Amino acid sequence: MQSIYSITYQKLVDILEKNSFKKFRADQIFEWLYQKKVNSFEEMTNINNDLRTFLQNNFYFNSLKIVALNEDVDVKKVLYELSDSNRIESVLMYQNYGKSLCVSSQVGCNMGCTFCESGRLKKIKNLSIDEMVLQLLQIEEKITHVVLMGIGEPLDNFDNVMDFINILTDYRAFNIGSRHITLSTCGIVDKINQLHLYNNQINLAISLHAPNNELRSKLMPINKAYPLEVLMSSLKKYIKITNRRVTFEYVMIKGVNDQIEHAKQLAILIKGMNAYVNLIPYNETSHIEFKKSEKTTILQFYDILKKNKINVTVRKEFGTKVKAACGQLRSNYEESND
Ligand code: SF4
Repeated sequence: MQSIYSITYQKLVDILEKNSFKKFRADQIFEWLYQKKVNSFEEMTNINNDLRTFLQNNFYFNSLKIVALNEDVDVKKVLYELSDSNRIESVLMYQNYGKSLCVSSQVGCNMGCTFCESGRLKKIKNLSIDEMVLQLLQIEEKITHVVLMGIGEPLDNFDNVMDFINILTDYRAFNIGSRHITLSTCGIVDKINQLHLYNNQINLAISLHAPNNELRSKLMPINKAYPLEVLMSSLKKYIKITNRRVTFEYVMIKGVNDQIEHAKQLAILIKGMNAYVNLIPYNETSHIEFKKSEKTTILQFYDILKKNKINVTVRKEFGTKVKAACGQLRSNYEESND
């Protein structure tokens, strides 16, 4: 038995055809699930009894329990409880271009980035496909953009995340364009190398946060497994294959990674790449001692990158609730709602 929300269209077709049902039945089932949003097989009135019995014997409907809902002018945060009692959250951001949902991909995270609030909780489990799909279905809003920047490292849950993206982009399901989906990773290179085989149009955001191996290994243990030269070479190949621009997220931490030399190193590191840098003032939390860089330091850093012809943006307002690097978003939101 598996959740009916955990299956891609093609896998459903394969199962149905293997059991002598016609392919068009999968279209009907997807319409009931994602357009009409029914909660039982009984409600699928154009499905015959044989197929209904087959579905009931092989699939079940499930849902997430909403345990808290916090709304602000431009943000809605939902805390969900899974059937195993673990809790996850989704953050809906009302942007001027649409409704963007930040989805979690794991309970906890094993990547151990020292600046990250989410990473303080070790990974308990990967989210199943249905647990990600239901974050969208249950928000009860027409989502136009999805960012995989919530809790967890999406590429550490690769197979489920790839099927989830398949369901997001399927016109019979959520029908969200690949270019409206952003996956943020700390840089698991062997998975980045496979990404284009599944979807070569999504936006790839790399949590970089340091321009040299010594500093990056201190901030992000993943750098010991995949040092910068390995990461950069993988990204150059990715850009060549996909012809897509990559984003580098760079959280600015006072006195740690925000010095002039760091900006110069960063410019050299990414020079000539089809990429842009997003400078994000660090979100301070009570549990971690790092502090946010001074505004003047950030602007100086920005200027050095600009002078070196690097595409760069700075988050407009400090503490704003919109986009953040993975693991930073939740604390960002919570901070703004204190
Ligand atoms: S920053 Fe992202 S990858 Fe690193 S510990 Fe936090 S959630 Fe995990």
